[in-house]
Amino acid sequence: MKYISTRGLCEPADAPSAILEGLAPDGGLFVPEEIPVFTEEEKEALRGMEYRDTALLVLRKYLDSLPEERLKTAIRDAYDSFEGGEPAPVRMLRQDFGVMELWHGPTCAFKDIALQLMPRLMSICRDITGLKEVLEILVATSGDTGKAALEGFKDVPGTAVTVFYPENGVSAVQKAQMVTQQGSNVQVYAVKGNFDDAQTGVKAIFTDRELAESRARQGRVFSSANSINWGRLLPQVVYYVKAAFGLAPKGGTVDFTVPTGNFGDILAGFYARRMGAPVGRLVCASNSNDVLTQFICTGVYDRRREFYRTISPSMDILVSSNLERLLYLAGNGDSAAVREYMESLRTQGFYTVSPETLENIRSVFDACSCTDEEALAVIGDVYMRHGYLMDPHTAVGMYAARRFAVPGRPMVLVSTASPFKFAESVLRALGAGEAEGFEALDKLSSLTGLAVPARLDAVRRLPVRFRDCVTPGEMKGLFR
Ligand SMILES: *Cc1c(COP(=O)(O)O)cnc(C)c1O
Repeated sequence: MKYISTRGLCEPADAPSAILEGLAPDGGLFVPEEIPVFTEEEKEALRGMEYRDTALLVLRKYLDSLPEERLKTAIRDAYDSFEGGEPAPVRMLRQDFGVMELWHGPTCAFKDIALQLMPRLMSICRDITGLKEVLEILVATSGDTGKAALEGFKDVPGTAVTVFYPENGVSAVQKAQMVTQQGSNVQVYAVKGNFDDAQTGVKAIFTDRELAESRARQGRVFSSANSINWGRLLPQVVYYVKAAFGLAPKGGTVDFTVPTGNFGDILAGFYARRMGAPVGRLVCASNSNDVLTQFICTGVYDRRREFYRTISPSMDILVSSNLERLLYLAGNGDSAAVREYMESLRTQGFYTVSPETLENIRSVFDACSCTDEEALAVIGDVYMRHGYLMDPHTAVGMYAARRFAVPGRPMVLVSTASPFKFAESVLRALGAGEAEGFEALDKLSSLTGLAVPARLDAVRRLPVRFRDCVTPGEMKGLFR
C-alpha cells in the first residue's frame, strides 16, 4: 500500500515513511492511494470479532509492509493498558442508542486510543527502515495531548518525548498528570507564556537546520506526534468498524455522532464506511467554535471569526487540519482543488468548495452546534433520565445526536473523555456548586457514587519529577 499527498505534488511513499514523516513534503496530508475494502468473508467474521483482532485486520490492510507478529504485539501492548481490557465499550442507554466510551485508557481521554498505538507503530517503522537515530518527539500542549503523548511514548524503544505546556494554561489536574509522568525517556517543561508561545517555540526547533544537524550527530532526529499523522488516524478507524459490525441489524447500518475539533475522530468513521463497514450517517457536533458545522451546512469554511474558550476545550479549534483529507476524498481525489482551497484559506482566511464536493459531503455528514449552557443542561438531563454521567465534550455530541437520531435506527454517540477529567464543569451541570482540582473529583465521586478513575486518582500521590520552567527563547537551548 502506497501513500500519496492530498496536494498531489510529491512521489508516493510507503507506509513507514508516511508514518515517520507525518506531513507530506508538499505540505499536504498522506492518504492511502486506495481505500481497502472488506471481503464478504471478512464482513461475516467481523460481526463477532473482538477488538484486538479487528484492529489487526484493519491495520494489516493499510500497513502491509509491517510484520504481522510485531503488529499483533503492538496492538496487545497498547490496549492491555485500558481499564477493563476493552478499549471501546458501548453502553446502551436505550435499545437503539449507545454511548461508545473511548476514555478507559491511561489518561482518561480518547486520544489514548491512537497515542497508545502510534508510538509502537513508529518504533516498528524505525526498525524496518533501518533508521538508527532515536526519534525525538516534541509536543506543545494545551492540556490533553501532552499527557497522552507522554503515556504513549513512555519507555517505547527508539523514542523519546518532550512536552511543553503553558505555565498557567492548563488545569491543576492536567499539570499534576504531566509533572508526575514516569518513564525513562520522558521530559516535561512549563513554558512562560500561553499555548501559542509553546507552539511557536516547538516550531522554531523543528525548522532549525543547524540544530537538526547537531542533534543528528548525537544520534537523534526530531519528529512529531501530531494528529495529522496517518499513524494517529488509523487506530481510530478500528472502533467504528467494531461498533458498526457489532450493532448493525442485518442489512442495516449504524449512525454515529462525534464531538469534533480537528476532524480526526469523525474522519476515521468515514474511512470505516468507505471500507464497507455498515456505517450510516456521521453527525459532526461542534461547540461554539462551530466553523465545521457552518462548513458542512454551507460549503464555506471561514476562519475569520471570534475564538471562544468553552467548557469543551479540546474542541476549541478554528482550523481543523484533518478536514483536508475529507476535501480530497469528497472531491474524488482532485488535489489541484485541495491546493486551491488551502491557498485561499492561507491568504484570505476562507474557501468555498465546489457544489459537487459539498453534495458528496452532505450525502454522509450532518452537523449541529451547541453552546456551553446547552451542554451543561444536557449533562444534567441525561444524568436525571438515565443515571448516566457524561463530560462536556460528550454532552455537545449528545445535543447533536438527539437532533439527528432516527427512532429504530441504531445511533452511537462517541464519548471522548471521562466526566472526571472535567469534573469542575460536570459539578456545575449537576447544580452541585464549585470545587477545584482534585477536590472536584472527590466531590463528583461522593455525589454520584462513581469511583474516581484509578489512574487519575493515583496522580495526587505520585512524586513530582519535573519542575523546570523555561522562556520560549530558552526552548532551543535545551537540545544543544
Ligand atoms: C481531541 C478531542 C476531541 C476532538 O477530536 P478531533 O479528532 O480533534 O475531532 C474531542 N473530545 C476530546 C475530549 C478530545 O480530547
